Amino acid sequence: MPEMHAVVDVSNVCWAGDIEPWSKAPRLDRLRRLTEAWRGLYGARTRLECVVDRALRYELPAGERRAFDRMCRSGELVAVPYADPVLLTRAKEDGLRVISRDKFVDMRRRHPWIEGAAERFHAWRREGAGLGFGPSGIVPVAGQVVSRAEEDKELVRDGLKDRKAVLGFAWKCVSRCALAQLWPDRILLWPAVDRATGTPVCPDPNCRRPLVQVGARRASRQIVVARQDDGSEILRFPLEAGDCVEVGRGALAHGINLDGLDRRHRSAVAAVSRHHLLLELDDGLTLSARDIGSTHGTEVRRWGGRALGEPRRLPPGDTARLNAPDQLILAGAVSIRMSGRRYSPEAGHPDYGGAGGATTAFEEPPRQKVTRDDEG
Ligand SMILES: [Zn+2]
Repeated sequence: MPEMHAVVDVSNVCWAGDIEPWSKAPRLDRLRRLTEAWRGLYGARTRLECVVDRALRYELPAGERRAFDRMCRSGELVAVPYADPVLLTRAKEDGLRVISRDKFVDMRRRHPWIEGAAERFHAWRREGAGLGFGPSGIVPVAGQVVSRAEEDKELVRDGLKDRKAVLGFAWKCVSRCALAQLWPDRILLWPAVDRATGTPVCPDPNCRRPLVQVGARRASRQIVVARQDDGSEILRFPLEAGDCVEVGRGALAHGINLDGLDRRHRSAVAAVSRHHLLLELDDGLTLSARDIGSTHGTEVRRWGGRALGEPRRLPPGDTARLNAPDQLILAGAVSIRMSGRRYSPEAGHPDYGGAGGATTAFEEPPRQKVTRDDEG
């Protein structure tokens, strides 16, 4: 028998309504039943690492919180702000099995090994009076599905309660902050969200004042900007149908300053020109890009169905039309892509309906490196 040491997605198990005790609320008792069933099948000495979202403690019935604390102290439970990245990293490093019904779609980009290791992902099922185990059903998913799953988690984590009320409108800041001076009529970035109230506030970290609504947002696509060196995200912003924005470095009156909000990315974006690229979204929500004479150039990587193709130079002045998984690379240092999301005012915001029952405001997960080629 192969080694059956495993890492257990404790929150997922504790919420499982088909493990006793029968109740809708999460129960720590379910973890005990599951680990007993696993060890019953694979041996009492089978190692099980139990990783849990710290927030679960507050969702357990009061009577189980003490047990939760005790198990944390004894090391039976490892409680972290955000369990998924931790348990996947443990599984990857030690070749452990994963017991969860979660398909980890939002983690596929950071953990590309998942799709090649489907046999290591196990879900429980009821068998007679007890529990059995079978494959959890990991199958490859398209890059767009991954990016949407990531965005869902991110919006939930950022504390956005009423997505439509925030994302369906354009906003301006009426303070004297840097963004208000740059964009007096309409802020080109997504608003930030106040965690306590769920209301939109200025995305300038030095401002964070409440924003003023300036009308409904037109049909939009979301643009995602990331670093090439470690894959970490620099920013994302909405682009409305009919909009044309400049992307570059420094204050741009109708543009996106990659060097603006987060100093951590300063060296990564240093090679991007001040006036680098024009992005335009037409009424059919097709994105086009034009290099406007940048010093270090722009390249296009086309999505080939399974992976992104080789970078091809985009000559200055030429226009490239881009589909959602295609990627632009600025100065070899920064990638730009359209996310799978679209916003349509007529249809309301179907993509933003319901957060899959996840109502926990997650803390920021640890930043993890991704390889360049698992993008998309
Ligand atoms: Zn402001």
